[in-house]
Amino acid sequence: MRRAAVLGGSIAGLLAARVLSDHADEVVVLERDDVAVSGEFGGGQGPRPGVPQGTQMHALLDAGRRRIDHWFPGFSTELVADGAALADTGTDVHSYLDGSLKVLVGGVEMVSATRPFLETHLRRRVLALDNLSQVNGRVQGLAFTGDRVSGVRYAGAAGDDVLSADLVVDATGRASRIAAWLREGGWPEPEMRRVHVDLGYATALFRHPEGPHGVTLAQSLATLPDGRLRLGTLGRVEGDRWIVLVAGYSEDRPGRSMEGFLRRCEEDPAAPFRQLAEDGEPIGEPVTYRHPDNRRRDFHLLDRFPAGLIAVGDTLASFNPIYGQGMSSATMHASCLAACLESGQSLRDPAWSYFKQVRAVVDDAWQTSVLNDLKLPHVTGPRPRGFKVASQLSDLIVKASVTDPVIHRRFLQVAHMLSPAKTLMRPGTLLRAAWAVRKQDTPAADTPLDTAA
Ligand SMILES: Cc1cc2nc3c(=O)[nH]c(=O)nc-3n(C[C@H](O)[C@H](O)[C@H](O)COP(=O)(O)OP(=O)(O)OC[C@H]3O[C@@H](n4cnc5c(N)ncnc54)[C@H](O)[C@@H]3O)c2cc1C
Repeated sequence: MRRAAVLGGSIAGLLAARVLSDHADEVVVLERDDVAVSGEFGGGQGPRPGVPQGTQMHALLDAGRRRIDHWFPGFSTELVADGAALADTGTDVHSYLDGSLKVLVGGVEMVSATRPFLETHLRRRVLALDNLSQVNGRVQGLAFTGDRVSGVRYAGAAGDDVLSADLVVDATGRASRIAAWLREGGWPEPEMRRVHVDLGYATALFRHPEGPHGVTLAQSLATLPDGRLRLGTLGRVEGDRWIVLVAGYSEDRPGRSMEGFLRRCEEDPAAPFRQLAEDGEPIGEPVTYRHPDNRRRDFHLLDRFPAGLIAVGDTLASFNPIYGQGMSSATMHASCLAACLESGQSLRDPAWSYFKQVRAVVDDAWQTSVLNDLKLPHVTGPRPRGFKVASQLSDLIVKASVTDPVIHRRFLQVAHMLSPAKTLMRPGTLLRAAWAVRKQDTPAADTPLDTAA
């Protein structure tokens, strides 16, 4: 491959660029925000318009962290040296379900840092690659030659231009215009599936010298007495600060006032949130963000597609952010790209084998998100066949994970994308979960499975 062009220089684009640097003479990342170190958005060190969700809490799950460490050895260590926290589920990551602390089990680590901090560190490592460059420009469309994409049209500092490329990777995120670009070239548009979840986020920064309840990261999922489902996450981040997120659905979304933000923390049944509200020192005001829908573009369903084009990251699928799987999914998309390129896929053909592989990754995260989202009373949309049984079984696993270490470990493996979601539906796991829940409900119940922990 002579040149690969990556459209969008955020997490998914940077990861795809890293993989492509092993296979192309030259990789060019086209990014509309001026994220050059001396540019308007200073290397992406603060929130920027192209990534509006960057103001919100972002945790890097273990699957994503491990992959990035593989491509950039020592990446996690470097983040920690610069002030990020590496939290261990066996000690300082506390998960609460309706105020009950889940049994601690180790083996899973996650990075807690602000999103701009993560992105800046990743960009620094990517741009250090010899054959890689970043161009500040807004992509306007694709250039086609015969039945393939041969480049990209963009508006840069010197005016409109065309960058020729053997492979174009769309990483422009959930609002990608790829469907319109394909239509302009006479190609069919991928179908977009949406599930309207109407989720509201608010994130604020705090100082808290001690750290609430000795945690590095705490997550709380709570059903309030009136049935509303709320989520809270807090974590230590660079600069000796704490990032705190509160989230709710539909009319229950959080507002912009610090007073209301603190009230929600006080109402949370998990102790670290109440402690933070009581003696944390707010830095600035909360910033809100609205996530209207989950969406995915089903490229694998198309019957015609040009060669020389693929999509990664949120362009492929963007799901409910409360699961924190977006950045880790992007690492998996980059792995699929690496696998296809290593298997010698010809650039003369459409990338069907890539779309087939990546579909499995998207399906897994999508099903986890959508199965839980469809349980929410305000979420409409066709419930898939077997939905009722599947949702009862997933509730069983979640409930059992509060007290049973084996179930909690398996749950964490899936939540952190280290194992596929279907592993939780194995008969042995379900049986064990049923025993654990029975034991919760009747504490004296004798469980022969205890010894297997
Ligand atoms: C509220 C919220 C919280 C989240 N929390 C987490 C979390 O805790 N953990 C996690 O892993 N994930 C989280 N995510 C998901 C995560 O933000 C994304 O999955 C991740 O950023 C990967 O996205 P991306 O690189 O595909 O797209 P984006 O990050 O959206 O980036 C798209 C890039 O393309 C550029 N661009 C767009 N159009 C053009 C154009 N025409 N020309 C040139 N450049 C263009 C943009 O400037 C931007 O840089 C969260 C998402 C939301 C909404």
